[in-house]
Amino acid sequence: PIFLGIESSCDDTAAAVVRGDGTILASVVAGQTALHADFGGVVPEIAARAHAEKLDLCVEQALEQAGLGLADLNGIAVTAGPGLIGGVLAGVMLAKGLAAGSGLPLVGVNHLAGHALTPRLTDAVAYPYLMLLVSGGHCQFLWVEGPQCFTRLGGTIDDAPGEAFDKVAKLLGLPQPGGPSVEVAARSGDPRRFGFPRPLLDRPGCDMSFSGLKTAVLRQRDQLVAEQGGLHEQDRSDICAGFQAAVADVLAEKTRRALEQTGAPLLAVAGGVAANQELRAALLRVAETAGARFVAPPLRLCTDNGAMIAWAGIEAFRAGQRDGMDLAARPRWPLDQRAAPMLGAGK
Ligand code: ATP
Ligand code: FE
Repeated sequence: PIFLGIESSCDDTAAAVVRGDGTILASVVAGQTALHADFGGVVPEIAARAHAEKLDLCVEQALEQAGLGLADLNGIAVTAGPGLIGGVLAGVMLAKGLAAGSGLPLVGVNHLAGHALTPRLTDAVAYPYLMLLVSGGHCQFLWVEGPQCFTRLGGTIDDAPGEAFDKVAKLLGLPQPGGPSVEVAARSGDPRRFGFPRPLLDRPGCDMSFSGLKTAVLRQRDQLVAEQGGLHEQDRSDICAGFQAAVADVLAEKTRRALEQTGAPLLAVAGGVAANQELRAALLRVAETAGARFVAPPLRLCTDNGAMIAWAGIEAFRAGQRDGMDLAARPRWPLDQRAAPMLGAGK
């Protein structure tokens, strides 16, 4: 089948056309970074309005790039949650309109399933596999047995790492989104100059915590500012390197445990933070040691995009899912329905 995928759950408006064999026929992503730049974070009202304005155009461009019309498609997949409700609603309403007008099947997709199934879009990955989903709003280990079968093995009990990267960037006066700017600054930094904590490493299991790490960065910055009246470029780089190393250490050790616990033949990673090269290298080492294959999708498919939604829609469609005009937009929607919602920590 050929699916249109629509994504608007956070600050990227995206549409893509994907074929059942995993070929991405078109993928359009319109970011909103500039719109939120003055606010130090994503402003839900601004995001919702921008999605409502841009969605039509993104879909039009994706179809044009693919050289297809609605009549050539077999279905429409849309992110139905979790995320900022205004944006999710804008996407769901557009998808319903398109489905009603064209008579195409409608499939509502969980944004996290989109991230978690991406390795199957990009590589020959069979079920089951271990997924580390590490993004702006989420951080969890998932045991993936099918397109609708996810078991949560553990995750952050407070902040998501992407959120921590963004806050650290903000603390240091680096541009948003924080992940890429912290990674660049860290390249010329000394990760050992500041001894940042590795929270929860002493505890068994796969749960993680990142908010203490963020606070440690804040304290270090304030201490340097008090001592020398400001931050030098080298201080920024050293803080970034130390912070990034701590995040990578925690994620690597918890991944080692999750691999041990599941005996997974394959470790896959997804979500925006999976774009981080140091993290990828650390995870590759852990997987190799455990004798597991490691799959990390290309960066543009790690951050929010429409292709992962189209693909998750195709997988759900093949499993028999069809949604009607009563498809709801859900601000919260844990992938593993059995997991305690409190532990899903996210925006
Ligand atoms: P969620 O998917 O949980 O709803 P989101 O959609 O905002 O959250 P993504 O688009 O998957 O998250 O990822 C964005 C996050 O990834 C941001 O927090 C950003 O700072 C982080 N990020 C992007 N590139 C990098 C990088 N190279 N290193 C670390 N973090 C990164
Ligand atoms: Fe995302």
